[in-house]
Amino acid sequence: MQEDPDNGTAGRVNNSPMHQHICPHCRNASVPNLAVRWSSRESPAECTACGQLSHVVSSTSSGIWVFGVLLVVASGIAALVTQSLWVGLAGLALMVACNVCAWRRTELWPISKTDARTANKVGWWAAIGAWVVALFVN
Ligand SMILES: [Zn+2]
Repeated sequence: MQEDPDNGTAGRVNNSPMHQHICPHCRNASVPNLAVRWSSRESPAECTACGQLSHVVSSTSSGIWVFGVLLVVASGIAALVTQSLWVGLAGLALMVACNVCAWRRTELWPISKTDARTANKVGWWAAIGAWVVALFVN
C-alpha cells in the first residue's frame, strides 16, 4: 500500500531539455547532465540533492566518444563521395542525436568522497610516473 503522491513519481520522469541524471545514492534526478559528461573516477559528478558523488564507467564514456568520432568520419567520407555538404551535415546531426541519447541512458556509479580523492591522487602519480618513464626511455 503506497499512498504517497508527493514522494513516488516526483523527480523520476524528467523530459526537460536540461536533463538530470538519477543519483545512485538518493535516486533523485538531480545530477546535472554537464557534470556527468565530464565525470570520471578522478573527478566525479556531485548530486545537487544529497551532495554525494557518482561517475560514469569510463568504458561507457569512451565508447560514446569513439562511436561519435566514427560517425563523423563516416559522414565526412559520405559527404566527399556524394559531393554533398547536406550528407555531411545529416551525419553530424545524427552524431549529436546519438550522443545525447547515449548519455541519457548511461547509469551512474556511486563513489565515496575518500575513494574519489584516492583515485585522483593515483591518477596524478600515474601521470607523473608515465612522464618520468618517457624521459628515461627517450
Ligand atoms: Zn543524490
